[in-house]
Amino acid sequence: MNSKRAGLFLALLCLMLAVSFASSAVFAQSGTISLTVDATKTPQKFIPCTEVIPVKPGPLTLYYPKWIPGEHSPSGPIVNLTGLKFTANGQTIPWRRDLTDVFTFHLDVPAGADRVEAKYDYLEPSGGGIYGGSLSATDKLIVLEWNQTVLYPAGSPVDKIMVAPKLVLPDGWKFGTPQKIESQSGNETTFATISLEELVDSPVIAGEYYRNIDLTPPGEKIHHEIDLAADDAADLNMSPEVEKGLKNLVAEAGALFGARHYRNYHFLLALSDHVAHFGLEHHECNDSRLPERILLEPNAAIAVGGLLAHEYVHSWNGKFRRPADLSTPDYEVPMKTDLLWVYEGLTDYLGPLLAARSGLWTPEQYRANLANISAGLGVGRLGRTWRPLLDTAVGEPGLGFARGWLNWRRGTDYYDEGDLLWLEVATIIHQQTHGAKSIDDFCHLFHGGPNDGPQLKTYTFEQLVASLNQIVPYDWARFFHERLDSTSPNPPVGGIENGGWNLVFNDKPIKTHSRRPVMNDEYTIGLAIGPDGSVFDSIVNGPAFNAGVTSGMKVVGVNGRLYTHDLLEDAIKASKDNSQPISLLVVIDDYYKTCNIDYHGGERYPHLVRDESKPDYLDELGKPRVAGE
Ligand SMILES: [Zn+2]
Repeated sequence: MNSKRAGLFLALLCLMLAVSFASSAVFAQSGTISLTVDATKTPQKFIPCTEVIPVKPGPLTLYYPKWIPGEHSPSGPIVNLTGLKFTANGQTIPWRRDLTDVFTFHLDVPAGADRVEAKYDYLEPSGGGIYGGSLSATDKLIVLEWNQTVLYPAGSPVDKIMVAPKLVLPDGWKFGTPQKIESQSGNETTFATISLEELVDSPVIAGEYYRNIDLTPPGEKIHHEIDLAADDAADLNMSPEVEKGLKNLVAEAGALFGARHYRNYHFLLALSDHVAHFGLEHHECNDSRLPERILLEPNAAIAVGGLLAHEYVHSWNGKFRRPADLSTPDYEVPMKTDLLWVYEGLTDYLGPLLAARSGLWTPEQYRANLANISAGLGVGRLGRTWRPLLDTAVGEPGLGFARGWLNWRRGTDYYDEGDLLWLEVATIIHQQTHGAKSIDDFCHLFHGGPNDGPQLKTYTFEQLVASLNQIVPYDWARFFHERLDSTSPNPPVGGIENGGWNLVFNDKPIKTHSRRPVMNDEYTIGLAIGPDGSVFDSIVNGPAFNAGVTSGMKVVGVNGRLYTHDLLEDAIKASKDNSQPISLLVVIDDYYKTCNIDYHGGERYPHLVRDESKPDYLDELGKPRVAGE
């Protein structure tokens, strides 16, 4: 959806919501919905569902979840909902879709009926989609996010709608979930009745190849585990180092926040090359997906630490503490995303910090990540000069995951730049209190409190600022506004510099884990380019851009030879001693074009180097807080 349509869409939606809430009062609020998801045909990507909804006679409005918590957008995969049929007292009830909202269905419950049975099928997509709307099932596993398989009646907040869920799995498959099991019979599991809000917050991972590993640190009373499902048995072999790092992560998170807000916690990790790779947070678990053989790779700890630490932090920052305007009564009310630089940005700071403290990342890897993201955000990224950071958060629901031209669009910079922003906050707390307090004190204050299980405590910008002022009085509002509204070409690297390090470029390659691809090409000729020559991004006003290469083109030749990435790297290396331009043959649409790039700078990789005039607070922040790890 483009931005103009998004605005109109939301306006219509608000209008429609006012009407639908007023007219749909026939859901019998005291009743419990029973939901049965038949996942036995997972290998065929076909998931039949049956739902029995207690009702009263009269008009009934049902919603398919649209605004999915954690996805920050109207991303419910309605396109995959098929085969919809309703019956009551054995009679078919006709339905009609709302004229202004494809997620809304209307029907009339006949006199005498006290329940409606809905039957429908969820189709696992063969490709495309984002987050939960992408492929979640293979021949060997499924990640079931319940929002995909449920309809709910209008008129009640989702924390008041009770659901009794049942799941049927292929023979022999095992599963993991934070949900309480009421009974099991063969391959059929009945879970305890919970609110719809809690159900959507409690996915299930299941598969033929499954194992769980206890991650509860010594002396910890709350149970933690990782539930792994993979496309092959061999993929489940987690190294003792990664297992130890994850146990440390649990312990370090406890030390950072000083409290937990869950009854037990499950890291649900799908290992497959077929499912989309992302993470989605929940109060008591996270739904994370990585390449099939990642645990067998040398960079397993980097990848696992990068994704799982981020999603785990969300249990505190995003789930327990959530911006008030991202907290909605149901999945139909639009979310306002202006505070995503806290929800995601602070998480993007604390996740890698915990990955470092737990030993999943080395201090070098932690610094390399910071170097990479600050280099990726600027200098020379002109997108910064037209689009303030705040707008990358506000625009998320319609603009967040556009492809190509990322340096000019700015994409989801509230993640990476949020990391830098909160690092700067951490160094200011340290400086202003002369080392007496740290970001940990803020996390204790903001994310702490008693553990009453999954809870939501909302906040506004003003309340966030007030909490920071409780740690140390400072003009935090001005600090944030300056950085959120800035159109400076320079990224906010104050935290790195306060921490005793500087960003530099040299010819030594780096290894890291980040959302941004690490490529020599990006910081030299200004291209983010794939192994097959596809141009993901061309830095606007960079050398390649000025020679005519833009996002979406494909490089097929380098200096008169067939393109390989190695050849391009060689040409960049040689450019230092070469007065000739680098000649790229590119394809755009079905036309060939030669682009001569006037670049003679050689290799350039971003690094952090010590500023010996200042204490090394950056490394100090990343040291373990829990003894004996
Ligand atoms: Zn996140």
